[in-house]
Amino acid sequence: MIRFDGVTKRYPDGTVAVDDLTLEAPTGQITVLVGPSGCGKTTSLRMVNRMIEPTGGRILLDDQDNASMDAAALRRGIGYVIQHGGLFPHKRVIDNVATVPLLLGWSKARARSRAREVLELVGLPGHLAERYPAQLSGGQQQRVGVARALAADPPVMLMDEPFSAVDPVVREQLQDEFLRLQDDLDKTILFVTHDIDEAIKLGDQVAVLRVGGRLAQLSEPAYLLAHPADDFVADFVGRDRGYRGLSFQQTPPLRLRPEPTTQLGTYPAQAREATRDPWLLVVDEERRPLGWVEPDRLLTEITPEMLHRGGTLAREDGPLRAALDAALSSPSRRGVVVDGDGRLLGTVRAHEVLTAIEETERPEAEHVEGLADIADVAGSSGA
Ligand code: ADP
Ligand code: MG
Repeated sequence: MIRFDGVTKRYPDGTVAVDDLTLEAPTGQITVLVGPSGCGKTTSLRMVNRMIEPTGGRILLDDQDNASMDAAALRRGIGYVIQHGGLFPHKRVIDNVATVPLLLGWSKARARSRAREVLELVGLPGHLAERYPAQLSGGQQQRVGVARALAADPPVMLMDEPFSAVDPVVREQLQDEFLRLQDDLDKTILFVTHDIDEAIKLGDQVAVLRVGGRLAQLSEPAYLLAHPADDFVADFVGRDRGYRGLSFQQTPPLRLRPEPTTQLGTYPAQAREATRDPWLLVVDEERRPLGWVEPDRLLTEITPEMLHRGGTLAREDGPLRAALDAALSSPSRRGVVVDGDGRLLGTVRAHEVLTAIEETERPEAEHVEGLADIADVAGSSGA
């Protein structure tokens, strides 16, 4: 557990970067610090491993004041990942990753074999180990950064905008893999980002900071979306927060309708016979949905190129957001619902999903404690 206890940082020029911050990052969980540029995220993070010293308050690691620890030893015991990976440009990937184990006195052979192990863990092909950082893509460098932080298997990880510098598609991959990794590793993670979507996706809990380094709200993501503590948080969390909150609500059993289907290679006349609706769903031999066609517009047999693939698929046990999105994105307005193996179960219309949403409870009943916290924070900041 990492505990900030009334922590303040005032820089010599008078800037108050962090103002009386009190918060707890529980063991084995991801706590995200999120807020606009300059709100004190990096400063907060770097006070944990004492790359910056606070001017007030204390930071406790498992009840031990970090000010009483040897700073160098403290840093070796905490994984630290920054934007662009923060790699040593003149060292090969493998030697970058082996850095901390070597500092900890491991033999060269053991450090290198551990480095190969963690590189594999973060999904980096083995042959890249001998390259220099500049010979890797941004996403690969970021993976090396994560591998390096994990090399000595520290219980605590500090991550400062680790995925901000890569393009959105790669970022999403890195986020997904990071979550999968954390599922097994159960590190205590303090993760900094300015991207609220990333915070909501990754955080077990999310701390929203405002400029001046004050905590505006600390809650679970679903609660944050449903109950922003004040206008600042509501603004920051964004406009479609009601819709995004559906990501956290599991789809209740929906009454699915059977959907007529056809397969690739079907001729126009046959396709027109399959349905009276303007749209017809095409599936493969395993009944996995491939896309939609308009039988009336078919001139030849159905080929993959003519499929409308814009519609998203929803898993029957997935989040409500996916079910609603499947209906809204489908050219036929019928959302395609599949089982765990991706096979067609049936379709659902948006109004049916909305009915299910209205019948589902919002995440307030379970979070009375969170509400008390918020009242506290909002009251003390005078917001
Ligand atoms: P964030 O990571 O949220 O963007 P920082 O923690 O980097 O924010 O900075 C918080 C505030 O402290 C900003 O106003 C920044 O300009 C200021 N700051 C950061 N480092 C220093 C420094 N060494 N000296 C003076 N002010 C600083
Ligand atoms: Mg920063």
